[in-house]
Amino acid sequence: MSDKSAVLKRYFGYDSFRGGQEPIIDSILAGRDVLAVMPTGAGKSLCYQIPAILSPGITLVISPLISLMKDQVGALNQRGIPAAYLNSSLTPRQYALALERASAGAYRIIYVAPERLMTEGFLRFSKYAGISLIAVDEAHCVSQWGHDFRRSYTDISAYVSTLPSRPVVAAFTATATEKVKADIRALLGLRDPYEISTGFDRPNLYFSVVRAQNRIDYIKDYLERNSGKSGIIYAMTRSNVEEIWEKLSKAGFRVTMYHAGLDDKQRAEHQDEFIRDKKPVMVATNAFGMGIDKPDVEFIIHYNFPLSMESYYQEAGRAGRDGSEAECILLYSAGDIRTARKIIDKSPADDELDAEGRETAKKARIDKLEKMIAYCETTTCLRAYILKYFGERPAMAQCGKCSSCNGEFEVRDVTKAVRAIYMAIYSTGERFGAAFIADFLSGDDSDGRMESRGFNEQPGFAVLADMPKKDIREIIGRLIDSGMLTRSGGDYPVLELTPVFDGIYNEKRRITMKFRRDKKIPARKAKKSEPVGYVTPDVDEDSQLYKTLRGWRREMAERRGIPAYCIFTDSTLRLLTAMKPRDRRQLAEVKGVGDAIIDKYGEDILRIIGESYENEN
Ligand code: ADP
Ligand code: MG
Repeated sequence: MSDKSAVLKRYFGYDSFRGGQEPIIDSILAGRDVLAVMPTGAGKSLCYQIPAILSPGITLVISPLISLMKDQVGALNQRGIPAAYLNSSLTPRQYALALERASAGAYRIIYVAPERLMTEGFLRFSKYAGISLIAVDEAHCVSQWGHDFRRSYTDISAYVSTLPSRPVVAAFTATATEKVKADIRALLGLRDPYEISTGFDRPNLYFSVVRAQNRIDYIKDYLERNSGKSGIIYAMTRSNVEEIWEKLSKAGFRVTMYHAGLDDKQRAEHQDEFIRDKKPVMVATNAFGMGIDKPDVEFIIHYNFPLSMESYYQEAGRAGRDGSEAECILLYSAGDIRTARKIIDKSPADDELDAEGRETAKKARIDKLEKMIAYCETTTCLRAYILKYFGERPAMAQCGKCSSCNGEFEVRDVTKAVRAIYMAIYSTGERFGAAFIADFLSGDDSDGRMESRGFNEQPGFAVLADMPKKDIREIIGRLIDSGMLTRSGGDYPVLELTPVFDGIYNEKRRITMKFRRDKKIPARKAKKSEPVGYVTPDVDEDSQLYKTLRGWRREMAERRGIPAYCIFTDSTLRLLTAMKPRDRRQLAEVKGVGDAIIDKYGEDILRIIGESYENEN
């Protein structure tokens, strides 16, 4: 059907559909329900927006995150698609007015919060509105087995049954186990739905696991090398978030933060700062994210250890929605794993279970955590690990786009060093801290305290002189993390041996550890690969044209009170800079530039590009 391709081009500026989009759109247009599981960034919105444009009636989009409806509606209106939203952020007057205009047929797409469905005014409107499609976004919210149950979602099927003629119902989610899928089918009352799960792979994401000595320093360095990029740093607790936020703010980075402890107003403000790029970096707990459709997030850093691959992949998946190259970094610390083990020991949900149920639930959590740890420790391809975890067979054993494939680490035999550390602690009487032990082993007596107390005469002094001291410290740190050494409390913590360590020492066991290679990793923006379907050209983001276009876009967005990406996304910005269209026809060929954009901004864009040609000459 050429219609849908024409709409794709005309309103969205894209030439081809992504995997899964076409059959879903066809099903909806043929009047069949849909249950689609597609990863974040796959392009679920188009699957109902295009049928909405092509169908005679109104499309209702039910979505849990009201704070983002405004932006989505703004983006549609920018593209020339009449849309509105109905939720509690409107005053009663605004709400009544919007309903009135909706009744008069002013909108093709209406976003509505689930809580609104069964209210009197909305039911009255729905009777005569001629609703032909109901799209349920984040459909997993209907299931108690999902990770984000919303009671109001269970009203949806009752609402549908009040309608004079049953519309098509299409359900979308990024994650759904079989159990959750069964719930979605049953609780939304789907009728013989067309079901599709597109692959889990996100070829534009680069995955890495990093064991940083000092995580804050690592992040500062990263932000410096990637300045101006938008990203999210996830941390485990509110206090982690505040601490990281404070350190980064003090160091002069433009960061904002989000966690459940902030009041509604602060949360809305901070979210807004991030979405509108006033502060391009967000530090947040996992409370932040669902429904955040910011397409140009270029990195996700996990400061703490996620508790399952499911949550990790969902959070990491918020990078690179627009198809541009993006990076997902997990900062790995064995200390975190201990905390994680404590957290999963008990869950509030356990209270509703009997003893046996509690035991099963706990086992399941431990199992998920173990798989997460294995992800951090694997020396094989991270992408392959992820895909296998989600039940897919990876196309390649080595993706070439993760820290494992790029060999950014190596496995070293550290038996000798570990034995030396054991001996050093033992022979100095378990009276010293890590700094002293490292000095002792590397033979560093720059402050004279070894000689003054005769330690330089002791066996073991300087036996690791050929090893960088930071490596000795690193190994000691890992021995502590893994429970082989303990560190006493107090102002001057000293290292103490444990029975586990005694055992390992006595058995002369061989010990290996995974180390990061000492090569400086170049700033990511230098290299952009082009996986099929997600093509982004190599563009010099320091070029004048790129900067000018970006500045112009920001100004436009500010003037209209919408996020910059509603005008067009970063990947379109890069394409414009690379392709430098000279006229409207060439402009229309740029991916992401549709007719409405050309009508509204075409002249401005062509003028800016024209000026850059002049400057070249
Ligand atoms: P999801 O809801 O599945 O997470 P979105 O609907 O927010 O994903 O889409 C993510 C991004 O992908 C958006 O910027 C969207 O414009 C873009 N996109 C969707 N479909 C296509 C396509 N066929 N070609 C190019 N870009 C697309
Ligand atoms: Mg979405």
